[in-house]
Amino acid sequence: MPVKNRFAEMLPEITEWRRDFHTHPELLFEVHRTAARVADLLREFGCDEVVTGIGRTGVVGVIHGKTDTAGRVIGLRADMDALPINEQTGVDYASTTPGVMHACGHDGHTAMLLGAAKYLAETRNFDGRAVVIFQPAEEGGGGGREMVNDGMMDRFGVQEVYGMHNMPGIPLGTFAIRPGAIMAAADQFEMTVTGKGGHAAKPHDCIDTTVVAAHIIVALQTIASRGVDPMKQVVVSVCTVQTDSTAHNVIPQVVKLKGTVRTMDPAVQDYVEQRISEIATGTATALGAKATVDYQRGYPVTVNADENTRHAVEVAKSVSGQVDDNTAPLMGAEDFSFMLNARPGAYIFLGNGDTAMVHHPAYNFDDNAIPFGSSWYAGMVESRMPAA
Ligand SMILES: [Zn+2]
Ligand SMILES: [Zn+2]
Repeated sequence: MPVKNRFAEMLPEITEWRRDFHTHPELLFEVHRTAARVADLLREFGCDEVVTGIGRTGVVGVIHGKTDTAGRVIGLRADMDALPINEQTGVDYASTTPGVMHACGHDGHTAMLLGAAKYLAETRNFDGRAVVIFQPAEEGGGGGREMVNDGMMDRFGVQEVYGMHNMPGIPLGTFAIRPGAIMAAADQFEMTVTGKGGHAAKPHDCIDTTVVAAHIIVALQTIASRGVDPMKQVVVSVCTVQTDSTAHNVIPQVVKLKGTVRTMDPAVQDYVEQRISEIATGTATALGAKATVDYQRGYPVTVNADENTRHAVEVAKSVSGQVDDNTAPLMGAEDFSFMLNARPGAYIFLGNGDTAMVHHPAYNFDDNAIPFGSSWYAGMVESRMPAA
């Protein structure tokens, strides 16, 4: 089966939606205009149910198939939010909101899922119900978690859930996926090291907090290099070092460190959390200072269920024929993980070709990817709930 002809026909219309979202990007949960437009279009398509305000600004549409003999329900998810970046694409439909841009292609994801919703509402060639999920705040706000916590899965009876993300560097029209962990867990930590400030020419009267912090930073490197099995993925990065001294000749009283932890395995995640605390407090104590650590768990590991991944691969192959079914996992994190923790499903990458990377000011979603993405979304519904 080639890319569904209907999506080739619909391409100008879906592209228009995508570019409209691109011109009007919104951040985190503040996706009011986008969510309203999504809800209006879903109603226009004749969705059987359109519910707004789930997980604050999330939107859900329900489409009934021609029949519903087996009580099957498949969820499809797209994200709607943009990033705090100054756009530098030079396109004529560029962001009109200074400092905000669709630099992760969520405009494309939303438009592709709208295209699939329109097609599914037109054809209804399946047995069961399709639930289209448009989430806010993927970029750090946990909008997916909010929708799950709002009871979305039970309320709409979702049994399986599927998500997609475009990816620069993968050829246009190529899909990439793997069973198991595909995106990392992202945690963050903040450390406060307290010594004894004073005159920099009298270090013996002080406890030099910058030296203590430097030892901690170096010792933290042993978590990845010595502590974790080399066959397992882990990142521990200290990204911010801030002292309360701005002078050349004042030893600070306090140094604050901030950083991120990426892991692919819950046991490794537990280990890293424990070791960061032990290394910080132990090193500080050894050098006469004190350290406290605030460790915050963020998005969990994005885990593709084996069986659902096989179905996702089959549909991707039927759509494009170009499928990498054992792609390398990425150390980035994805809020869709909360939905995959609530229901089995799969998350797939769709090639965006040779463009700037996501989160870069010159990045842009390639509209030529739309027929592939919309076909995959719709294909998941038709193949997982074949018409009776
Ligand atoms: Zn992003
Ligand atoms: Zn994204």
